[in-house]
Amino acid sequence: MAGPCGCGAGQERLEHEGIRETMTVHTQHVTIDTHGDNDMHDITDEVRDALQKSGCQHGLVNVFVRHTTAAIIIGEYEPGLIHDIPIAVDNIAPASGNYRHNALNHDDNAHSHLVGSIMGPSETVPFSNGKLMLGTWQQVILLELDTHPRRRDIVIQITGE
Ligand code: ZN
Repeated sequence: MAGPCGCGAGQERLEHEGIRETMTVHTQHVTIDTHGDNDMHDITDEVRDALQKSGCQHGLVNVFVRHTTAAIIIGEYEPGLIHDIPIAVDNIAPASGNYRHNALNHDDNAHSHLVGSIMGPSETVPFSNGKLMLGTWQQVILLELDTHPRRRDIVIQITGE
């Protein structure tokens, strides 16, 4: 019986079985030392290297930073935006704000946690024929939101075939 797309149900089942047989998951870690205070690092080459090592040709790569005061973003890594993004971050949650997190924990980085929560710890990029499907001006960037230098553990997980 043909499904809505016109393909036979048998064909569809075979395709699903084929994906299950060949799909693999590869997990790698990258460590980046940051300077703090909205320091940005272009990690696109690290993501490309991880994809190449996996040997996968088609699938998704997830880039995930394992910390609450940093973010993974996709953007254009150029001097203008490297200057502008920290200003935008400070507009979202000014460092000088009166925050409960700082008062309760004798901490100084509530604004870092807040922006980290909003921006999120990960981005997912599809890849095809072994190449990331990023646009011409898109780079994968680690954004350090904390107030002092940190060592960041980033997981690059590739799911594909
Ligand atoms: Zn904190």
